[in-house]
Amino acid sequence: MQIRKNDNVLVIVGKDRGKKGTVRYAYPRDNRVLVEGINMIKRHTRPRGTARQAGIITREAPLHVSNVLLLCTKCNKPTRVGFRFLEKGDKVRVCKRCHEVID
Ligand SMILES: [Zn+2]
Repeated sequence: MQIRKNDNVLVIVGKDRGKKGTVRYAYPRDNRVLVEGINMIKRHTRPRGTARQAGIITREAPLHVSNVLLLCTKCNKPTRVGFRFLEKGDKVRVCKRCHEVID
């Protein structure tokens, strides 16, 4: 997975384009991430009982990983993520701008 939980990302498409946020959840199977405060949607729920609450909940919806860029912790720029294998065989993420290991 190119983007992981607690990464800082920049949104590059949609109504939240240009915004930055922290990844709260990653869904590797769907290639999606949930970013704090980004891609807010409104969910309508039925009022229950006698309460006349409007029942509209605002929450985040997951974004596809191709819609965000990782903010590199080394050069502080939005970047695409590459992978590199270390001598031990560990797979690590690298910044495609500054070529530093991100993990
Ligand atoms: Zn970098």
